[in-house]
Amino acid sequence: MTDRSAELASKLAALEARLQAACAAAGRNRDELTVVAVTKTFPADDVRRLAALGIRDIGENRDQEAASKAAACAELDLRWHFIGQLQTNKARSVAEYAHLVHSVDRDRLVAALDTAAERAGRELGCLVQVSLQPARGRGGIDPAGMLELADLVHTAPNLQLAGLMAVAPLDQDPVPAFERLEPLVQALRSRYPQARIVSAGMSADLEPAIGAGATHVRVGSALLGSRPPLR
Ligand SMILES: *Cc1c(COP(=O)(O)O)cnc(C)c1O
Repeated sequence: MTDRSAELASKLAALEARLQAACAAAGRNRDELTVVAVTKTFPADDVRRLAALGIRDIGENRDQEAASKAAACAELDLRWHFIGQLQTNKARSVAEYAHLVHSVDRDRLVAALDTAAERAGRELGCLVQVSLQPARGRGGIDPAGMLELADLVHTAPNLQLAGLMAVAPLDQDPVPAFERLEPLVQALRSRYPQARIVSAGMSADLEPAIGAGATHVRVGSALLGSRPPLR
């Protein structure tokens, strides 16, 4: 094992301990939870090392970087998650490699992704990204518009509505923020029972997200180390 593989293995073990503890504290089962390893800024070799350690879900937030890593790792059995703000002109590229787009936040993007998925001959999973701080959030639709956007994804022939995604506000306690997510999850599931994914929680706020019902945590720095700033 290389030094980097050993480092990733040890970070993964520490993360696993956190996940087990958070699940126990929340009275949840660890196998309800999927770890999406967020590899942005890190090389494709790290994706390979993580895959060798059993990681199957990889998250990226920029199309160009994601497309090249997905191509470099094409022989691995991975699921690619697009988690960043997405411009409509990148939809065509994203639909070629992504399995799940977490950041669907507006009507025009739904239309662009549907067209792109049809062209790629693939059915594309989508999460509606809701803002937990609508006034000045970190992306996402205002909760008041969530169901309408979900309806649009649901009726798009080449998209599959898979659930919700949220990012906690940067400068606030994540606990009340993630509590605001719970009624939104209930509302979505009562209309679309199959839309079961809740993508919430990052390195710094996994525990409250798991407490609030996250099914997918998006973990970057806790697994890969710190990134250069401004990304
Ligand atoms: C970068 C990123 C993450 C991972 O963040 P860490 O704090 O490094 O775990 C999760 N979600 C989104 C949307 C991101 O852009």
